[in-house]
Amino acid sequence: MLSKLLIANRGEIALRILRAAKELKIPTVAAYSEADKDLMHVKMADESICIGPADSSQSYLNIPAIISAMELSGSDGVHPGYGFLSENPDFAEKVEKSGFDFVGPSASVIRMMGNKVSAKEFALKSGLPIVPGSSGAVDENVHEEAEKLGYPVIIKAASGGGGRGMKIVYSPEELDSAIELTQQESAVAFGDSTVYLEKFLENPRHIEVQVLADRHGNIIHLGDRDCSLQRRHQKVIEEAPALGIKEEKRQEIYEQCIEACRQLDYVSAGTFEFLYENDNFYFIEMNTRIQVEHPVTESVTGIDLVKLQLRIARDEEIKIKQEDIVLKGHAIECRINAENSETFLPSPGKILEYHAPGGIGVRMDSHLYKDYVVPPYYDSLIAKVICRANDREDARARLERALDEMYVLGIDTNLEMHRKLINDPNFINGTFNINYLENLNKEK
Ligand code: ADP
Repeated sequence: MLSKLLIANRGEIALRILRAAKELKIPTVAAYSEADKDLMHVKMADESICIGPADSSQSYLNIPAIISAMELSGSDGVHPGYGFLSENPDFAEKVEKSGFDFVGPSASVIRMMGNKVSAKEFALKSGLPIVPGSSGAVDENVHEEAEKLGYPVIIKAASGGGGRGMKIVYSPEELDSAIELTQQESAVAFGDSTVYLEKFLENPRHIEVQVLADRHGNIIHLGDRDCSLQRRHQKVIEEAPALGIKEEKRQEIYEQCIEACRQLDYVSAGTFEFLYENDNFYFIEMNTRIQVEHPVTESVTGIDLVKLQLRIARDEEIKIKQEDIVLKGHAIECRINAENSETFLPSPGKILEYHAPGGIGVRMDSHLYKDYVVPPYYDSLIAKVICRANDREDARARLERALDEMYVLGIDTNLEMHRKLINDPNFINGTFNINYLENLNKEK
């Protein structure tokens, strides 16, 4: 089991997975597109195999190509990373049916939690608090339901992801057209036009809970993260633990997440995402995969989540007991993108010079190196800078120092935006919610 691992992803997460596999002495195969032959993990893997052209629909999203790559390379397990096929139940099913191990939960769990309507139905049944909304997809009662919830409401695509497939509706007159538009957009983007209705929470924070479960019934949580700083519903800065949550509330939501995992027969790493407003949690979705922001949790718990995912896929037991998990200090992560700090336009190109920050408490997850060419075809994430210290202010100051040290020449990056943001008084004081960054950008 997992005698050879195929990494079906790219960039920093592919490197992250490769490093974990190496520490477990699992031979690795990097599956890469024609545009990615120079990626750092492709050079470092024991073997590599091209799975198709640059266009991800023909490579990283191409299920037959990846299964063939597993067969050809003699891999018996696959780590999907995040994005791409990581939450595609058909892929997980195909892997399972081919007799290989999928590093993640079962295809049926991915299918249920991947659809936000069935995920909310499950959450409600399992006892998790959910955002009030339509029971299931919108139907002829939608006007009545919206009236009952009170405007503003939000129309969301059942298969939506990456912050897309959402429309806020402020009045009954806008409702029908918002539904139609979201249905159309969602059909094109996600191949599913199902939409549902939710109360639009006006100033919540985004708080999520990390869980880990094995095939032997052991389930633990690794605390929470605050991912409220977002642009276009996508996370920009994340931190652990979340600030200002009453201990009692915290323990209650952790227990509810563990109970939900038990009912799901959940296996591997997973995240329950909530909006948090006026001391209340509201479930929005579950991610059945490793997340971009997992290093902040690793930094405060000292636990290697990716290594544990691999161990769990090998049927090993999680040996860490809940009571052994003690959070140490505070960690903050900045997502560094190849994009302009002002216009947010993508900026692919050749890295002419590059310096990674270092020193105590600084972690850099990046696949960059001098002369590497950032291709234009994929997500613009090029690095994650994570700092941990004994308290939040020290972690913030450390991050400020680390970002000052870092430079990337040859392409535009959003480093400057991060430097400004972590010096913003509201960031320093922790007084922000999910609208904060958008409002700040509007003010410019
Ligand atoms: P995705 O799968 O695209 O990430 P989510 O359902 O996780 O979508 O929501 C992403 C973000 O969108 C949330 O963190 C929040 O900022 C915003 N959002 C989603 N639902 C609501 C809601 N009911 N009220 C207010 N904001 C919301």
